[in-house]
Amino acid sequence: MAGVKLQGLSKHYGDFQAAEDVTLDIVDGEFLVLLGPSGCGKTTTLRMIAGFIEPTTGTVTIGGADVTRLPPWKRSTGLVFQNYALFPHMTVAQNVAFGLEMHKVPKAEIGSKVATALDLVQLGHLADRYPRQMSGGQQQRVALARALAFQPDVLLLDEPLSNLDAKLRHEVRHQIRSLQQRLGITTVMVTHDQEEALTMADRMVVMKDGRIQQLGTQRELYDDPTSEFVASFVGRSSFIKGRFSGGRFVSHGGLAVETERRLTGEAVVALRPERIHLGADAASDAGNTYRGRVESISYLGSSIDVEVKLNEIDSVIAQVVNKGRDSGASVGDEVSVTFPRDVPVFAASPA
Ligand code: ATP
Repeated sequence: MAGVKLQGLSKHYGDFQAAEDVTLDIVDGEFLVLLGPSGCGKTTTLRMIAGFIEPTTGTVTIGGADVTRLPPWKRSTGLVFQNYALFPHMTVAQNVAFGLEMHKVPKAEIGSKVATALDLVQLGHLADRYPRQMSGGQQQRVALARALAFQPDVLLLDEPLSNLDAKLRHEVRHQIRSLQQRLGITTVMVTHDQEEALTMADRMVVMKDGRIQQLGTQRELYDDPTSEFVASFVGRSSFIKGRFSGGRFVSHGGLAVETERRLTGEAVVALRPERIHLGADAASDAGNTYRGRVESISYLGSSIDVEVKLNEIDSVIAQVVNKGRDSGASVGDEVSVTFPRDVPVFAASPA
């Protein structure tokens, strides 16, 4: 097993920076997720670790060895793609064996390594099937077995769940995570799905425009986002835009908001829906309290989203627990809204 270090890694296509100055220390045995919107450079970064894309600048180190100039097959990385990339004319066992042959594993060892890898993903009983005879989730587990069969130091997963339907995605997500923990294998996964990232990762990296925006545990990114982008990309937030003057934040809609963190000039306050309290639930000493009018209600099952308009400009969405049929507010109700002072505040991002 081995950690992965990326130092100043960039990939330029002409003037375009697909990845820029990516520096990361992925520790041995860690499950790290690269998260971000389409085009943010996460796949480019993963492929530079795998060796399929040559960096313009920077280095990739695996287990202390500089592998920046090594081709993919000389790196100890197993890669799983979104579309499984199984050969349709080969059985499950042959698909897994193919990966071992590529890595020049001696013929005598291939049979037992295939069996071990298929047992790992609980598909030993389907070794003689063809990919078309299997579900998407099973095919993805074959791809995983193929990547793990030669016992790589690092597992690289490129959106491995995005071709699966919602139910299977939950199942395979759980299977991959528990397998990764059992093997203790350093893993880097790319996804644009924040829920996937939140449930699987030890740490997450949020990327935008080729650059790392923030690195941290789920809790750090959710509770202490350092930018409006991260607050909107990880979890949900209502944003109140305004201006600090004399150490006090006043929203563009005229709300005076007490915040623990104080900035100067144009700024944004981010409010998580579960930190906003309504009506009788609202403890007025908890921070900021306002009157507002319920604009809309969305039922989410165990909770309800209540959108409250505080004035012509400012509105927030509060998440309240669904306590049954008669609970909660109705559209048009006047309610009081409270949120605490220790909420994230950022300088307004340039337009
Ligand atoms: P997605 O989730 O859509 O796969 P991503 O975050 O993985 O997005 P990348 O595939 O890393 O994004 O691409 C980053 C940027 O680099 C994109 O804007 C993409 O268009 C650009 N890019 C990728 N490969 C090339 C190439 N060969 N030539 C020019 N631009 C490229």
